[in-house]
Amino acid sequence: MGSYSEFYRRSVDDAEAFWAEQAGLVDWQTPPRQILDASHPPFAKWFVGGTTNLCHNAVDRHLATRGDQAALIFVSTETGVERSYSFKELHAEVQRMAASLIELGVGQGDRVLIYMPMIPEAAFAMLACARIGAIHCVVFGGFASVSLASRIEDAEPKVVVSADAGSRGGKVQAYKPLLDEAIKLSKHKPDAVLLADRGLAPMELVAGRDHSMSALRAKHIDTPVPCTWLDATAISYTLYTSGTTGKPKGVQRDTGGYAVALAASMKHIFDGRAGETYFSTSDIGWVVGHSYIVYGPLIAGMATIMYEGLPTQGLDQQPNGGIWWSLVEKYKVTVMFSAPTAVRVLKKQDPALLAKYDLSSLRALFLAGEPLDEPTARWISEGLGVPIIDNYWQTEAGWPILTIANGVEKKPSKLGSPGVPMYGWRVKILDEESGEELTAANAKGVVAVEGPTPPGFMQTVWRDDARFINTYWSSVPGKTVYSTFDWGIRDEDGYFYILGRTDDVINVAGHRLGTREIEESISGHANVAEVAVVGVADALKGQVAMAFVVPKSGDAASDAEVALTLEGEIMKQVSDQLGAVARPARVRFVSALPKTRSGKLLRRAIQAVCEQRDPGDLTTIDDPSSLQQIKQLVAP
Ligand code: AMP
Repeated sequence: MGSYSEFYRRSVDDAEAFWAEQAGLVDWQTPPRQILDASHPPFAKWFVGGTTNLCHNAVDRHLATRGDQAALIFVSTETGVERSYSFKELHAEVQRMAASLIELGVGQGDRVLIYMPMIPEAAFAMLACARIGAIHCVVFGGFASVSLASRIEDAEPKVVVSADAGSRGGKVQAYKPLLDEAIKLSKHKPDAVLLADRGLAPMELVAGRDHSMSALRAKHIDTPVPCTWLDATAISYTLYTSGTTGKPKGVQRDTGGYAVALAASMKHIFDGRAGETYFSTSDIGWVVGHSYIVYGPLIAGMATIMYEGLPTQGLDQQPNGGIWWSLVEKYKVTVMFSAPTAVRVLKKQDPALLAKYDLSSLRALFLAGEPLDEPTARWISEGLGVPIIDNYWQTEAGWPILTIANGVEKKPSKLGSPGVPMYGWRVKILDEESGEELTAANAKGVVAVEGPTPPGFMQTVWRDDARFINTYWSSVPGKTVYSTFDWGIRDEDGYFYILGRTDDVINVAGHRLGTREIEESISGHANVAEVAVVGVADALKGQVAMAFVVPKSGDAASDAEVALTLEGEIMKQVSDQLGAVARPARVRFVSALPKTRSGKLLRRAIQAVCEQRDPGDLTTIDDPSSLQQIKQLVAP
């Protein structure tokens, strides 16, 4: 074990030599000619001239050494299915899927939108795209038709891969009707839809457009599909994420840089080794699912567990708060990755459940996606007796920005801090107004990253370089730096603390949601004149969305019964259009919203009042009584 500070220093002072070494962790068809081309900032092109393939690195290259070992372990406590695929079997399934996509007209550079529950076919589809150089765009299965439609319209997929249904807590959630509706709403129409039929919900196939996955699979049971060697800078995928505007951004990622970044993180951060098992409880719809359910563990030669279901139900579909720990024991999981909300859910279960299983294989539990509060960290750390490693990053980043590099040096964690900057990331705390770097300990500012950004970081916003530059690289005055849109501080030992978003993004149970998208959906209701949505602290989910609405007519602001009906309608509208994840926890009715004299909504003041905090400077407020109204509504 070396010293992390030396490791970090080399990664930023001698970045090309450092990353040239890391590039040796993956297979190349042609080695890179140039490690970094940073000649057009803020764009960073990594491993220029190299050709490789993510699917080759995740699957094919392991066939000779561990072909019969487990690669993908599927566990669904929703349907009671448990099934393991070896690397050889995964290789076969991915080729069948790739052949099916090719038959439907998919070629290199074409987009394939994947709207799937957590089933193996979703991973097959992602890997099949990577294999043939198609660009996958995975859309979280919890999103509904309007969210899905905007993503179909922006990605313009040739093919959509989907399924009859998902399931949550034993409740079947039909996907196909939502997909049909989304395609109807979208200006772009895919040529074909490839559908997995799990037998959960009836499905009507649209003639000429919809195809049965099992029929095409059978047809291509023995069709070999070799990996297409791709430029390191070829696009591997786009993944939509929310920001300040209502329109989600397609975060675009490369091939070679991503492969190297993941391989390096598996070694230096997660300390996961080939032949072991990795268990991430995330969903393929999020970046953690891309990096650490599908690609990262497989690239490292590990088996990865893909889990469909709640953390509180067993394979027999009976309540079981120990299901995850039973999987750790059964599959000898060495590295586990989850989110603080999931741990808070488990914390409500019987603590004896933890002691019941042999968890001695586990080396560490990584938690990310939202702030990790001290009581939760302490509870799980005492229960498991292994390091709990908070890690901070974003869809844009692709892999951790702040954490502890356990594979380099086992530095201690500090409660409440995700850790220190990871190798390659030049992380700064900047003053929001002046853009100046704040070097004093514990000074609060915007967490920013100086270029050139490391491998694995987003290339750009899909088809919108201007948006990439204007959104991310132009928000700090006088400097071209990447803004994370998170507040943070750094203590005297160099450990960072994240203090929440600087923009209108909220984080519900680790899911990133844009309040503007929710507001747009609510504005569509016939009786809504104005709306403001803010994120409010919640003991279980971190944050929940709360909506304040000025109704067009009626007595919602004064008549409780009218209010209840309208609240129900609004909640249903958001659920139907965006998905249940985006549904506000509460809708409250007011006669006016707090705004500045120039008409800007005072969201931060509303949020502060909802959280019983001081709303700060209110000299610009137009009508102070509007904030008073909210104060009364949310009084404890
Ligand atoms: P996403 O792009 O969905 O991964 O969401 C990224 C956002 O989640 C970040 O910008 C943070 O606001 C928040 N986040 C992620 N990880 C952490 C963490 N470990 N601690 C605090 N906030 C986090």
